[in-house]
Amino acid sequence: MNILVYAEVRNGKLKSTAGELLTEARRLTGGKTDSIHAVLLGEGCAAHAKTLATYGAGKVFVVEHATTNTYQCEPHIQTISQLIQKNSYKVVLGAASPTGRDFFPRLAARHKSGMLTDVVSVSLDGEKVVVRRPMYAGKCIAEVMSQTPVTFVTIRPNVIPAELLNAAAEASVENFQPNIDAAAVKSKIVEVRKGKSEKPDLTEASLIISGGRAMGNSDNFKILHDLADVVGATVGASRAAVDSGYAPHDMQVGQTGKTVNPNLYIAFGISGSIQHLAGMRTSKIIVAVNTDPDAPIFQKADYGIVADLFQAVPLFKEELKKIVEHS
Ligand SMILES: Cc1cc2nc3c(=O)[nH]c(=O)nc-3n(C[C@H](O)[C@H](O)[C@H](O)COP(=O)(O)OP(=O)(O)OC[C@H]3O[C@@H](n4cnc5c(N)ncnc54)[C@H](O)[C@@H]3O)c2cc1C
Repeated sequence: MNILVYAEVRNGKLKSTAGELLTEARRLTGGKTDSIHAVLLGEGCAAHAKTLATYGAGKVFVVEHATTNTYQCEPHIQTISQLIQKNSYKVVLGAASPTGRDFFPRLAARHKSGMLTDVVSVSLDGEKVVVRRPMYAGKCIAEVMSQTPVTFVTIRPNVIPAELLNAAAEASVENFQPNIDAAAVKSKIVEVRKGKSEKPDLTEASLIISGGRAMGNSDNFKILHDLADVVGATVGASRAAVDSGYAPHDMQVGQTGKTVNPNLYIAFGISGSIQHLAGMRTSKIIVAVNTDPDAPIFQKADYGIVADLFQAVPLFKEELKKIVEHS
């Protein structure tokens, strides 16, 4: 059984999800690395082949092609389709990142195959691929079986801990030149405007600091951004904060915002409505700061602090600075 892992590269950097996907692929093959292939797309991506080997890729396809250097859906689909035709994979794994969410469903449709999204674990039941995925805002976990010969799966970032296989492992590396049908590429990248933040997207962040309605205005969010800068965290917000115009919608965590899964989620002045919890309840450690000792968030928090956030944030900043300086 061959597995293909799409190892995402953004701005020349390999995303940490690659290690998570390869760890899950190794579990599926029972540790056999020769049936685990990975594909890297983008200028200079060959530099990451070695890292992929250390997480268990037996073979790495390196694609450096004018149409795939900047992410575009159609060339990615054509490239990976050609690899699938060449090697007949049973499972194609990618991250449930903005890029994975964009092209994996279209890739699956192109192959008339099963697409399982936002998955937290993958296993085999005989010849069939079975995954577990949260449903109903994380209240239950569904087990879903794919019926098609090849199955496309996107895995939630930060759910599977990446386990290094062997720091000295080597993979066979093949430069792959896809045959791109330019006529099928209906869109063209005219300009790439980077967001102000170099930090990971909320969906992939391992540290998140969020603010709610209690932030009071958009200027006050600056104290959260300053705190986040100390530890490289990404800043999120509740819907009440977004609807009040304190933060942009791409910062919203929750049922109608982003689903996040960080190692640490710190909520300042967020009540913990069911819709907010839907987006962050699977965070590994939740810390809540709220003036109301009965705020629902304290029922979900691992650590709760009854305090005014405007007093707590500077103290957090001071303490985190000390930790960073001494680490
Ligand atoms: C269909 C639907 C979808 C929704 N989707 C989302 C979603 O995706 N994400 C989301 O977040 N919400 C969502 N909501 C809204 C949700 O129901 C809540 O209204 C919202 O989460 C409340 O945000 P909040 O906790 O910031 O505000 P509030 O509920 O007003 O809570 C503010 C909290 O701050 C505390 N506080 C006040 N002053 C301070 C201070 N100085 N220091 C510390 N604490 C203080 C208060 O005690 C209170 O607990 C959705 C609602 C619906 C109906």
